[in-house]
Amino acid sequence: MRTNVIAGNWKMNKTNAEAVEMLTELKGLVKGIEDVKIIIGAPFTALSDAVRTVEGSNIAIAAENVYPKASGAYTGEVSPTMLKAIGVKYVILGHSERREYFHESNEFINEKVKAVLENEMTPILCIGEKLEDRENGKTAIVTETQIREGLAGITPEQAKNIIVAYEPVWAIGTGKTATPEMAQETHKQIREVLKDMFGTVAEEMIIQYGGSMKPGNAKELLAQPDIDGGLIGGASLEADSFAQIISAAR
Ligand code: PGA
Repeated sequence: MRTNVIAGNWKMNKTNAEAVEMLTELKGLVKGIEDVKIIIGAPFTALSDAVRTVEGSNIAIAAENVYPKASGAYTGEVSPTMLKAIGVKYVILGHSERREYFHESNEFINEKVKAVLENEMTPILCIGEKLEDRENGKTAIVTETQIREGLAGITPEQAKNIIVAYEPVWAIGTGKTATPEMAQETHKQIREVLKDMFGTVAEEMIIQYGGSMKPGNAKELLAQPDIDGGLIGGASLEADSFAQIISAAR
């Protein structure tokens, strides 16, 4: 009943020209695919041309961050209003790299979630435990806190338009993937928390897995009942590998 959502997260990669080139290639490779939602998260400098490049196709564009104010004296920041105005549809929020290097708290991420929803875009809320959390048996409590605080004050109606991306931090960019069983166990726990917060709406919510997802392991991960797609870093940088993951999601 849930459609797989496959999102690329380019992070701080690709110039504008490289972004347009890759998206042009990807458009051709995924043409006509309607049973998987396809998203590419691009850096701010490439967003405008990225949106133009995918216009009329089955690819939507995401930003990788936003500042949760409409406008004002916030030098260097980009507002949700600005993203919406150029046709961005999704915003990746609370990625572990932002939590780690830019000290983003759950409270701050929660402000961003609300600002993105107010501007009729879809937040992709990233959560996930660090290696020491997993080793200390704290995965469930860490992810639960990230969800409860990150989605505080959200109504069930709003929750329908939120994607959660579970990304164990120890699996990001390391080549180490959670086993499908391990990922499923955590995804199930996450859905239980969402049920407790939003009731039956939780059954409709997309929970993506992220962390070294690639053509070789995507199918088994996506076969798990509570894994509804992927957030893909490294393997989203090339059209061919990303298209193979999309095929695995069909
Ligand atoms: P990775 O990154 O696929 O390179 O592990 C995933 C992410 O950080 O979203």
